Amino acid sequence: MAGVWIIAEQRDGEFRKITYEVASAAKKVADELGAEVTAVVLGSGMQDACAELGKYGVAKVLYADDAALATYTTDGYTNAAAALIKDGAPDVVLFGASTQGKDLGGRLAARLDTGIAVDCTALAVEGGKMVATRPIYAGKVYADVIINGSPQIASLRPNVFDVVESGGEAAVEAVSADAGEIKAAVAEVQASEEGKIDLTEATVIVSGGRGMKEADNFALLEELAGKLNAAVGASRSAVDAGWRSHTDQVGQTGKVVTPNLYIACGISGAIQHLAGMGSSKVIVAINKDPDAPIHTKADYCVISDLFDVVPELTKEI
Ligand SMILES: Cc1cc2nc3c(=O)[nH]c(=O)nc-3n(C[C@H](O)[C@H](O)[C@H](O)COP(=O)(O)OP(=O)(O)OC[C@H]3O[C@@H](n4cnc5c(N)ncnc54)[C@H](O)[C@@H]3O)c2cc1C
Repeated sequence: MAGVWIIAEQRDGEFRKITYEVASAAKKVADELGAEVTAVVLGSGMQDACAELGKYGVAKVLYADDAALATYTTDGYTNAAAALIKDGAPDVVLFGASTQGKDLGGRLAARLDTGIAVDCTALAVEGGKMVATRPIYAGKVYADVIINGSPQIASLRPNVFDVVESGGEAAVEAVSADAGEIKAAVAEVQASEEGKIDLTEATVIVSGGRGMKEADNFALLEELAGKLNAAVGASRSAVDAGWRSHTDQVGQTGKVVTPNLYIACGISGAIQHLAGMGSSKVIVAINKDPDAPIHTKADYCVISDLFDVVPELTKEI
């Protein structure tokens, strides 16, 4: 059994939370397969950080230290990861269905001539094969997918898999992995405002839709979000109206989020919006229309005017 590999995700030399989620999920799959977890780390100056992955169940880290891999590029990461995977021949390769993972996944699967299950929300093992559960038809149906090719590749939806501390230090092996020709490089990184919480990593999200009426009214949501240490999201209508940036959009053509708490304010709950937040653990809908579809998905329905409820809620908190 060649084992379960993960491709770690780092930014500026620090692992992202999704890496720990993927490592923890990989450990469970590996235990059921009677295998070990190996992490591929592509980056620069991360030697010390690598061993820490052991805490999350990683037995071994293959660390390719290369300035060309310090920042993610589609070509560099595909070339380097594909070469290592061809060499090590793992049975399973897992990584996050983050922006990076979504970019890398298809390219990597094509390069390795195998299949990929994207945006998975559960993993199991049956008959020595990984079974990946993933949403289809904008989340209306969940499909159990078995990939016949090798390795079986799956990307995991952020914030769905628990981070589990199960080990100590991982053995770190320095490897060389050629980034090859990088045809498209990152020209500039425009970081979001200091202190702004990334929607895909937020545990609480307060979102606003067309019911917010105008851009300035989002200050109400910012205030509530400040009290809850939450990120502020938006429906596509709010984004199309120019009230919020596209990076705030939640949904099928925006971000897929899975916070512990999602508070939808003045959002009707169109299928394309639900596709992005439907797997949130607790959903609160504040909408004055009792027939709004969001109420069929919400755990708590506040059928009232958001301009009365939100300030009151902020005051209470
Ligand atoms: C291909 C495609 C992709 C799409 N992708 C996305 C996507 O990624 N994300 C997304 O969100 N949408 C997406 N959409 C658009 C989607 O279909 C809806 O049009 C959109 O989600 C509606 O946004 P909304 O709920 O803010 O607005 P509306 O549907 O207009 O709903 C506004 C809601 O606010 C309530 N309201 C109004 N005033 C108040 C008040 N004072 N207090 C309380 N409630 C109030 C109303 O009762 C209403 O339910 C997509 C559509 C297509 C075709």
